[in-house]
Amino acid sequence: MVVANLRQAGRALAIGALSLRKLGAKLQPGIRFVCYHDVLPGETASLEAQLLLMREQGEFIDLDRAIGLMEARSVLDRPLFTVTFDDGLVTTCGEAWPVFERLGIPLSIFIITSLVGQPGYMSWDDIAAMAKSPLVTFGSHTVNHRNLMSLSADEVRLELTQSKAEIEAALNRRCDHFCCPWGRPDRDFRSDRDPQIAMEVGYRSFLTTQRGLTRTGDKLPLVKRDVIHMHSSRAELRHFLF
Ligand SMILES: [Zn+2]
Repeated sequence: MVVANLRQAGRALAIGALSLRKLGAKLQPGIRFVCYHDVLPGETASLEAQLLLMREQGEFIDLDRAIGLMEARSVLDRPLFTVTFDDGLVTTCGEAWPVFERLGIPLSIFIITSLVGQPGYMSWDDIAAMAKSPLVTFGSHTVNHRNLMSLSADEVRLELTQSKAEIEAALNRRCDHFCCPWGRPDRDFRSDRDPQIAMEVGYRSFLTTQRGLTRTGDKLPLVKRDVIHMHSSRAELRHFLF
């Protein structure tokens, strides 16, 4: 425990020092996909502060537009931010959503269809209510949130098609985006197989947790994202996002 805390403190110090190099630097043009999970009651002020910090640095665009820019290989001439939430947690609806709605910022939510309506997860009614807003996009985060590396190609195909079909039937609209559980290339999915399957079954994107800025010419379906937590400091945000 002590070692873990020390390691964490060391990491925070290192990130703080690294982030100083970026103070005052001009932000690169490109898209930053932000990956959030849980927002606990009492953390909405941190969420709002983080979003306002991003808004100072660039412009928010929704996932469809971000993927459209990538598909068109558009020249990205300014910093853009696209916010995503994984897992379809009830806090995304209850805690985070009011902040996004008030600030008018688009968000995408990736749901695990077998867990919809389970304790801690959004219900289909919550999902349908949020889907009415033009700010909200829903995507698939599989049926069962299993590690795709451990599955056969047929099993991966089933996780991707079944969740897509369920979301499309529930919302009566296309489900174009897929977000891989955990999302680390060749640890949580096979980079030589699974993005290809996603394209074959009709998705436009395959979101990962590989960090980095998306620049003009970055190839789909793979989409890099930066995982950010509510407790992430300004220095961490500066280090990872700006
Ligand atoms: Zn997940």
